[in-house]
Amino acid sequence: MSYLSLSEVYKKFNDVEVVKNLSLDIEEGELVSFLGPSGCGKTTTLNMIAGFLEVDGGGITVNGKAIHHLPAHKRGMGMMFQNYALFPHMTVFENVAYGLKLRKVKKSEIGEKVREALNMTHLQGYEKRYPKEMSGGQQQRVALARALVIRPRLLLLDEPLSNLDAKLRVKMREEIVEIQKQVGITTIFVTHDQEEALAISDRIAVMNKGRIEQFDTPENTYNQPESAFVSRFIGEVNEFTGVVLEKYDKNLKIRLFGLDYIVPMDGTLSNKEVDCFIRPEKVQVSETKPDNYNSFPAKIEKKTFLGNKTRLHLRKDGQLIIADIGSISVQPEHIYVGAEINTFWLDEDLHISRDEV
Ligand code: ATP
Repeated sequence: MSYLSLSEVYKKFNDVEVVKNLSLDIEEGELVSFLGPSGCGKTTTLNMIAGFLEVDGGGITVNGKAIHHLPAHKRGMGMMFQNYALFPHMTVFENVAYGLKLRKVKKSEIGEKVREALNMTHLQGYEKRYPKEMSGGQQQRVALARALVIRPRLLLLDEPLSNLDAKLRVKMREEIVEIQKQVGITTIFVTHDQEEALAISDRIAVMNKGRIEQFDTPENTYNQPESAFVSRFIGEVNEFTGVVLEKYDKNLKIRLFGLDYIVPMDGTLSNKEVDCFIRPEKVQVSETKPDNYNSFPAKIEKKTFLGNKTRLHLRKDGQLIIADIGSISVQPEHIYVGAEINTFWLDEDLHISRDEV
């Protein structure tokens, strides 16, 4: 049994379906991101878990017990939002203590619990400050301390870092993961930032139009995207049209640029055109024809030095192929605009979307 379970959760606003029979199982202690473009239903789903919105269908359980009929304050969720929502007229101590007072925790216990939450978030010594006397990152920590102090069953974070500048954002996300692992609290983190989701999550639920497209580890989401949407949404990708020639055990034989590739994917259709995806860093080039791989000559149209890599624009059969080449993979004298270079990739680095075969 999973810790948090969403089963066929459904929500519509007026007549617009916003969350469409969404099912998801999250294990205790996991950090899961809801990742997707604006309007895909991330916040709506989070708000149904928190109890700020009612479900129109389906159910939500924590530890096997249904919670979707409970009011928000009885669900034991810790929340943190984009605009920290700290009370400006209260000190840090009072802000963090607020949830405990509401829950009528004894005064003697409040001090200890607040101190514990402030230690966890590295805010010792700031008890008497007001929010306006603190930096954005510090205010963010106060908001986190306030969410954690009630010892919630789940920590729900809605785009918590989007108000911070890029550098602080990275620092804060590392702190959040560190605290989350230390406390062992099951956490959902809403973001539309793919890099953020890849960096912090145990698993990512990639959402599109009220549905989950893929629920997987960051590595699998990036390296084994299961749909065209996931391929396009996470990272950069080259997109070509290939043809499925035949089914081959649990593989499909795909023809692309006149060559055959065996792609690990269950599917049935033959002689059907499919979108094929390959990441720029998986496209390889070589001055000599590689022995063990399918390769084809492509013309270098553009070369851009980017520090840790060089980006090539290659042209084959009228199509553009973007290749990101590591600094040591090819002798630089072979890479110049106008040159033809052998271009290849591993069969398993080529992906086709599951929804097409
Ligand atoms: P963002 O990243 O922009 O916050 P999101 O993925 O969190 O997007 P939601 O806020 O869940 O998306 O909204 C999903 C859809 O539901 C959007 O089209 C939004 O306009 C609509 N929506 C959200 N709340 C309401 C509401 N109270 N009444 C009507 N429509 C709503």
